[in-house]
Amino acid sequence: MNIQYKKLTYGGTRSNKPNKIIVHSMGENINNNGDVYDAVEWLRYLKLSAHALILPDGDVIRCRDDNNRAWHARGYNMDSLGVEFLVPGIHDYGSFLNMIKTDWVSDEQYASGIELLNQWIDSQNIETIARHSDVSPGRKVDPGDGFRWDWFVDQLKQSNWSKWETDNE
Ligand SMILES: [Zn+2]
Repeated sequence: MNIQYKKLTYGGTRSNKPNKIIVHSMGENINNNGDVYDAVEWLRYLKLSAHALILPDGDVIRCRDDNNRAWHARGYNMDSLGVEFLVPGIHDYGSFLNMIKTDWVSDEQYASGIELLNQWIDSQNIETIARHSDVSPGRKVDPGDGFRWDWFVDQLKQSNWSKWETDNE
């Protein structure tokens, strides 16, 4: 897992006590009325942040420390870690919505996501892993139907089975 560091300051100064992981998706690049932003620039433009972004080639961009809050999911920013899977290409909101219905996540992204989330499960008191659409139904649709969610959660359970069994007892 190759990690790059591009700090985002939005998220405030208060500490994060993560007990859940929220999985998102957003465009790798965003076309805003002809101005193209990469994902980090777009989050900065929106005054938002996430703890990590996973590029289509599997590289991970860290933007916030685990123990600092990030602003990625309204109502959940005091106790969660946020990860954005980046949808390849340049997108406006319409093309983004269309693409996340397709099988867009690369094998490299799934592999890095599993590695990163396993690190979080091992290092934090993670009790819940949810999609943004699970915690904000009706308002958010990411990461989308094309993200193989059941398979992904199954991979995490298999590689961290002892912890999951303990948590579920
Ligand atoms: Zn989201």
